Amino acid sequence: MPANFESLPNELYEELGSSCRGPVYRREETGFLDYSTIFNGNVVSAAKAVVCPLDAEDVSKIVLFCTKHSLSPSVKAGGYGTAGWAIGGDIIIDLSKLVEVDIEVPKADGSFTSLRDVASANSKGKTAVPNAASSSSKRRREEDTNLRQYDNASQTVAAFLRGPTLSDTQPDGPSPSVRRRLDAPTESAYSSSTSTAPRLSMSQSMSPSDSGGSRGSQSQTTSTPATSPSPTVMNSESISSTVTTGRNAESSTSGPANSNPFGYLDTPSNFPPASPPAALQSTFNSAPLVTSWGPGPNSIFANAPVNFSNFGQVAVPAQAEPIYPHAFVTFGAGMRQKEIDTFTAKEKLEARYVTGGGDGIPYHVPFAAHPVGSSIMLLGGFGFLSRLHGLSIDNLVEVEMVLADGRIIIVNENDYPDLWWGLRGAGSCLGIATRYKAKAFPVPVVFAGNLLYRFNKATAPSLIKHFRDCVKGAPRELYANVLLTAGPAGKDSLVVVQMCYVGPREKGQEYLAAISSWDGEKCLLNEVDEKSFLHQQDSVAQVLRGKAGRQWFIRSALISSLPDDIINETVLQFTDSPVGCTWLFELAGGAITDFEDTCVPKSQREASFTIAALHQWEMEIDDDRCVDSAEEWIAGTLKPVHIGGPFPSFLGRHEPAERVKACFGDNWKRLCEIKGFYDPENLFKNTFWPLDAAGEIVEPQTHEPPTPEFLSTSIRGQKRKVFV
Ligand SMILES: Cc1cc2nc3c(=O)[nH]c(=O)nc-3n(C[C@H](O)[C@H](O)[C@H](O)COP(=O)(O)OP(=O)(O)OC[C@H]3O[C@@H](n4cnc5c(N)ncnc54)[C@H](O)[C@@H]3O)c2cc1C
Repeated sequence: MPANFESLPNELYEELGSSCRGPVYRREETGFLDYSTIFNGNVVSAAKAVVCPLDAEDVSKIVLFCTKHSLSPSVKAGGYGTAGWAIGGDIIIDLSKLVEVDIEVPKADGSFTSLRDVASANSKGKTAVPNAASSSSKRRREEDTNLRQYDNASQTVAAFLRGPTLSDTQPDGPSPSVRRRLDAPTESAYSSSTSTAPRLSMSQSMSPSDSGGSRGSQSQTTSTPATSPSPTVMNSESISSTVTTGRNAESSTSGPANSNPFGYLDTPSNFPPASPPAALQSTFNSAPLVTSWGPGPNSIFANAPVNFSNFGQVAVPAQAEPIYPHAFVTFGAGMRQKEIDTFTAKEKLEARYVTGGGDGIPYHVPFAAHPVGSSIMLLGGFGFLSRLHGLSIDNLVEVEMVLADGRIIIVNENDYPDLWWGLRGAGSCLGIATRYKAKAFPVPVVFAGNLLYRFNKATAPSLIKHFRDCVKGAPRELYANVLLTAGPAGKDSLVVVQMCYVGPREKGQEYLAAISSWDGEKCLLNEVDEKSFLHQQDSVAQVLRGKAGRQWFIRSALISSLPDDIINETVLQFTDSPVGCTWLFELAGGAITDFEDTCVPKSQREASFTIAALHQWEMEIDDDRCVDSAEEWIAGTLKPVHIGGPFPSFLGRHEPAERVKACFGDNWKRLCEIKGFYDPENLFKNTFWPLDAAGEIVEPQTHEPPTPEFLSTSIRGQKRKVFV
C-alpha cells in the first residue's frame, strides 16, 4: 500500500461495521480491491474502506458516519464513469448489493405503485434476494466478466473482428489508401462531398415504387431485396477523378462550410412523418423470419471473410400488439443496465394477438447505447431508444434517495419537485439514489446492425456526409451512428455505420436501403437484420472492443450541425490518432427535445448529434496523444458547432468547470441553489460538481482520484494542456 494511503483507526472500522448490515472491507482485504476497481484502469482509489450497503437505511447510516468523522463518501454503481469519482472518497459506498428488479403494468388510471409502498428486497424482515446479501466479491468479479461479453450482439461481427487483417490488395482492384496512423496527413488525399459516392437521395431511395417494403406494405421476404444494394468497389481511377484537393473544398451538395446548419428537426424531409413517442399504435406484423442477406454467391457478402449465421434473429409473434403503452420497472441502484435488460427481456408482458400467439412482448427501459451502470438514471443516458422515448432521466418516475443529512426520501414530480427537477441530470451531486422506478416500452423486435467499411481517408468524408444526409429528417424510431475506430494494432481501421430501427424489417429496411446505397468503398459486412433488443444492446460495445482495466479517456459534445469542413477535418485528424481511438457521431434529437422539466436544458436537447471520442489504451503505454487527440478534436475541431457541454453522463476525467456548467446552460443558477439547499457542505463532492461548499471553482484533479503512481510521474498530469 503506498504510504500516503492511510487507514482509519480500528475503532472507526468497528463503528462503521456495526452501524450497517452490509460488509465493510479495509484496504488490506481482498474485497477492497474487487469493489474499488472500476472500468478505467487509469484511476486508483485512496479510500480507507469500501462498504456494501444492503438498503437505503444502511446508506443513511454510512452517510451519517462520514459526516460525524469528517470523511468524504463516494458512490459506486456500475463503475463505468471514467473520471473515477465513484472511488474518489474516503469511504466508497458500493451499491452492488442493491440488486432487486421488478416489472409492473400500469394501474387502470395509468399510475404505478410507489416505492414507498414496497419494501426493498434486502430490508430487515425480508428475505434477501439471491446474490444480494450473500454474494462475494469474487462472484461480483465473475458477474462483471460475464456482463462484458459482447459477442452475442452479432456472431457475424464477432467473427469479422477476430478475422485476419484485411488484405492490402483487394480482389476487385487496388487497395484504397489505408489509413496509416503515424503518417503525417496529406492534404491532397482529401475528399469532399463532391467525391466518390453517387449520392442517392432519400427521395430516390424512398420512392414507393422501389422501396420494396414501404410502411404498411406487405412484408419483404425475398433473398435479394431492393434494400441490399451490392456496394460497388471504387477503383483508383474513380477515386482520384472525384477527389477534391484542399481541406476546405466546398461541397457541391451541402453548400459552403457552416452555411448548412443541419436543422432536420425543423425542416420537412422525405421520410414519412415521425410517429408519436408512444409505440402503442404500432402493429408488429412481422413476417416469418427470412435471412435477406445470406451468403449466396450473388449476395453482397460473397467475398466477405465471415461466417454467417442467423444469430440474433428472434421469433416474434406473427401479429401482436402491445397492450400497455409502457410498463414500470423498479430496480436497485446496484443493477447494471444489461442485467435489467436481461430481466425485462425474459419477463415479457402480455400482448394482444391479431393472428397466432406467443409468450408476450418484452419491454425495455431506455438506457445507454453501451451497457453501463445505473447512474445514467441520474446523469442522462443516451441510447437506442432515446430518439423515440427520451433519455434515461426522462423516463424516471420515482427515486428513493438518501440525502446529505441522512434522511431517506421518495422523490417524484409531486414530492420534492425542485429536487426532482435537479436530480434528473445532476442527481449524483444531490444525494444517493438507492432504488429507481422508470418507464419501459414495448420493443418486440428491432431491425438493426452494422455496415462495416475499411477506413480510407480519401473516401471516409464522403461516407460520413452520406450518412449525415441520409439520417436528416429520420423518424424517431431510427437510432443511427457512424463511427471511426482505429486498430487494434496490426488490423485495419474501420468506418462503421450502425442503425437500430425500433420496429420490424418491413418498416426499417427503407432506411437501410438509403444508408447502404453509398458505394464509395466495398461494404465489408452488412449484417443488419431483425434482432431482439437484448442483442442490440451490446452492438456498440462489440464494435468498440472496449476492455475494462485499460486506460480510458472519454470526451463528448453535443453539436448543432455537421458541416462538410468539420467532417473533412475530422477524418484528417483521425488518420493521425493512436490505436484504440473511436470517434462516434450519434444522431440525437427526436423525443429528447420533448422534455423540458429537468435540469438538462432544451438548448442541449436540441442538438443534432451527440459526439464522443472514446479512447482506450494499454496500461503500459504512456502517450499523451491518447488524451490530446480526443481533446483537440472535441474542443478544437468541433468547437464552432458546440452547444454547451455534453450530456452529463458523458462528463469524464479532468473536465474544466466551464464545460461542466455548460451542460446545464441557463439552468445552472437554479441547480446551484438546489445543491446549496440539499447539500450545503458539499458532502457529495466526489462527483462532477465543480464547485466547493463556498461556491468557488475547484480544480478537476482535486475531486478526482489519482492516476496510478507509475503514470502520474510522467509528464501527463503535470503539464497537461487545458482544453475548454
Ligand atoms: C465505454 C463507455 C461507453 C459509454 N457509452 C455511453 C452511452 O452510450 N450513453 C451514455 O449516456 N453514456 C455512456 N457512457 C457514459 C456512462 O453512461 C457514464 O459514465 C455513467 O455515469 C456510468 O454509469 P455507472 O453507474 O457505471 O457509473 P459510476 O462510475 O458507478 O458512477 C458515475 C457517477 O455517478 C455517481 N453515482 C453512481 N450511482 C449513484 C447513485 N445511486 N446515487 C448517486 N450517485 C451515484 C458516482 O459517484 C459517480 O460520480 C459510456 C461510458 C463508457 C466507459
